[in-house]
Amino acid sequence: MMPAAIIDTHCHLDVSEFDADRDAVMARALLAGVSDIVVPAIRRASWNALLDFCASRSCLHPALGLHPVYLVEHRDEDIPALDAALAARRPVAVGEIGLDYYLRDLDRKRQRALCGAQLDLAVRHDLPVILHVRKAHDDMLAMLRERSVTGGIVHAFNGSEQHGLKYAELGFALGFGGMLTFERSRKLRNLAAALPLNALVLETDAPDMTPAAHRGRRNSPEYLPECLAALAEVRGMPVEEVARATSDNAIAALNLQRATKPSPGGEGAAGNAR
Ligand SMILES: [Zn+2]
Repeated sequence: MMPAAIIDTHCHLDVSEFDADRDAVMARALLAGVSDIVVPAIRRASWNALLDFCASRSCLHPALGLHPVYLVEHRDEDIPALDAALAARRPVAVGEIGLDYYLRDLDRKRQRALCGAQLDLAVRHDLPVILHVRKAHDDMLAMLRERSVTGGIVHAFNGSEQHGLKYAELGFALGFGGMLTFERSRKLRNLAAALPLNALVLETDAPDMTPAAHRGRRNSPEYLPECLAALAEVRGMPVEEVARATSDNAIAALNLQRATKPSPGGEGAAGNAR
């Protein structure tokens, strides 16, 4: 039986950890049933290479943004540059952007300013967003409510069930990945079991957040089936059903044009890639 087609909604496949074997990693991921991979940006300097890399394969989908953890690298002029890049290159989302209050050295006021400016650009360009949020869900929800952001994905979601439901109400999907494979992640596993299935998407966050079976090593999109299996297990549902639902949710959250079209000539086969 073919493995279920699943979507890695968050994979930093452009970073140097994959320089030596990027093509081999992608080939193994496709064999493992990963049909599509979303590649979010970290810093302005990497945007062009990321866009060119994603343009080389229809299974790759770029997002452009300024990652909150790398706050000190970002400059005010990166915002108008992002505005121009979104117009010229039409990535699938603005990301990875967000708020990280877990890292105490990051200036929160500047984080909010940077995130707010990027949320405004997402609204202006009518694009979803890919959010990185740690210990900052109340502030993020407030910032989203101040704007008519069209939704997107809260990646590596680890808030409360209440936070999750509020994001879902605003049209967001919640990303779960390798941490689910650890038995000790009890709170996260309970959360993934309790939230509505139609709000969940899969992600690896490779090269970080390696699943239990490969701990201590580089994470890879080829391990996404292990995240799927863990999610199906905690929900007590068939793997196929969770695969289908999370892929549908990812497509809806980011308006993805999938690499693997349903049937040639069939209803779903239209769609010029934008
Ligand atoms: Zn990331």
